[in-house]
Amino acid sequence: MSIDPRRLLGLAFASADLLVELQNGRVRLVLGAAQKVMGQSEAGLTGKSWPQLFSPDDQPLMDAMLACADDGVRRGPVVLRLAGAEPRHVRVILRALPENDGRISCAVTAAQPAGPRLAPGELQPRETFDDIAKGLFEAARVTGLELELAMVEFAGLTDLREGLPPQEAAALDVKVASAIRAESHGGSAATRLSAERFALLRQRDDQPDNMMKRLTRMVSAEAAAHMVPLEAGGGSTRALRALRYALDDFIREGLKDAPPLTLSEAMNRSVKRTLARAGALGVAVSQRRFNLAFQPVVSLGTGLAHHHEVLVRFEDGASPFALIRMAEEFDLIEELDHAIVEQAVKKLANDQERKLKLAVNVSGRTIVSETFVDHVSRLLAKYDEAKGRLIFEITETAAIDDLARANQNIQGLRSLGSAVCLDDFGAGSSSFAYLQQLSLDIVKIDGRYVRELADNGRDGAMVRRLVELCRDLKIRTVAEMVETIEVEEIVRGAGVDFAQGWLYGKPADKPCPALRPGAVVTPIARRAGASESWG
Ligand code: C2E
Ligand code: CA
Ligand code: CA
Repeated sequence: MSIDPRRLLGLAFASADLLVELQNGRVRLVLGAAQKVMGQSEAGLTGKSWPQLFSPDDQPLMDAMLACADDGVRRGPVVLRLAGAEPRHVRVILRALPENDGRISCAVTAAQPAGPRLAPGELQPRETFDDIAKGLFEAARVTGLELELAMVEFAGLTDLREGLPPQEAAALDVKVASAIRAESHGGSAATRLSAERFALLRQRDDQPDNMMKRLTRMVSAEAAAHMVPLEAGGGSTRALRALRYALDDFIREGLKDAPPLTLSEAMNRSVKRTLARAGALGVAVSQRRFNLAFQPVVSLGTGLAHHHEVLVRFEDGASPFALIRMAEEFDLIEELDHAIVEQAVKKLANDQERKLKLAVNVSGRTIVSETFVDHVSRLLAKYDEAKGRLIFEITETAAIDDLARANQNIQGLRSLGSAVCLDDFGAGSSSFAYLQQLSLDIVKIDGRYVRELADNGRDGAMVRRLVELCRDLKIRTVAEMVETIEVEEIVRGAGVDFAQGWLYGKPADKPCPALRPGAVVTPIARRAGASESWG
């Protein structure tokens, strides 16, 4: 059957505004609304390097798509930002037709990006990935789009990376993130779960083996994956919950078991394992099978440790983050918080010099409890020496279900001589409401904002404004996750009072004086060593 080429073109334009043919990475042929979609005429585009038409941030993503477009499989759709100051995005689908002299056909349409802009080497954070997934679940229900979740693991990636000089390690990060994004629907439905584990959502129209081969080739580390089809129906909220459980399980267990057949099965499996772990956690809490780690919080005025934050460590010594979340879900957190306060108070009482000050974390759940303030009050009556040297950081504020009661308890703690700090400020949407309704001494600015302060010329204007607001309210501020001198300078310039982070010391098994590489430590500072007084 011979079809008139004009009819073929008509069919092609039904799904794209612009058709582009590439050869050796350059534009050979352009048909369609070039000016409208790309901001350049057909003649202007012809002969240009295709990847360079995209913003430098997105060029590695296009490179990754082109690098694996040689097997006749459709790649994309992926949304990319075009080069130029004006934010303009296009959705691109690529296909290399077999036996076509290495020519690649692209269908291009103007588009809107899903999720915030990503730098090379970056993937969406887990929360944004969840949001994007939810949007895709809804779109899939309406359009019949068939999606699957791919849980991908690169065995040996960490070792490979550690053997490289820093520049090559950074280049590898860019390659990995671009390869993963190029496989995901829209180019942004992907996230990093750990150093070697990733998750992405993709269309179910390609053999999983093809994807694994492409990823292995791009990253030079063996890729393995489990695919779980996303069932239609059941609602996007339920699907999202199942997705979260499935990924939490993948983070902990990897791909060692047979792949779950459905997302619901993945979720059931995860819940069973979670229950077993929660049982073990309950035992660890009741038998006090945990240790404390201490991290200095320095005064930016003196460079000396003002106090130390107490962080719990369970038997594996790893970050307690997942276990704390579980303790909150399974109502074990109050008992854990009580136990840690008790140990911290004993530690303070044993400190001969009476200089040590400790900040303990208290969950939003615990701060609304009826027994917590009484418990602290009894402890401080018994260990009188600890009075005035115990600080409370309220974490997981999302768990506060009664702000008035929380404030009552906070005032109870303050009347016992303790300062109270609101942790993770800015991480949730209601931070300002908390500031309005709780009377506090200190606000700790969430590390996510602090860590990226020096990137892309960010100058901390937001932090400065927050500090001004806090000053009006007579609240002092802490910046956490200060890892570099550049960030320290920005937060100091913004008027922040205290800083915490790797620059001054990681959590250690005893409270150590603050270290700050390159800092001029005055003889007085060295002599004073541990702490400065409160006030
Ligand atoms: P958080 O209260 O925000 O604690 C700060 C976390 O950031 C700690 O992780 C700490 O090790 C880490 N960190 C400190 N400086 C830096 C830095 O410069 N860079 C980076 N990348 N990270 C830094 P950790 O110990 O894993 O604790 C995680 C979370 O678990 C804590 O976040 C807190 O919400 C919770 N948590 C820890 N200990 C306790 C506890 O005793 N009770 C309660 N209720 N929650 C706790
Ligand atoms: Ca904290
Ligand atoms: Ca924090």
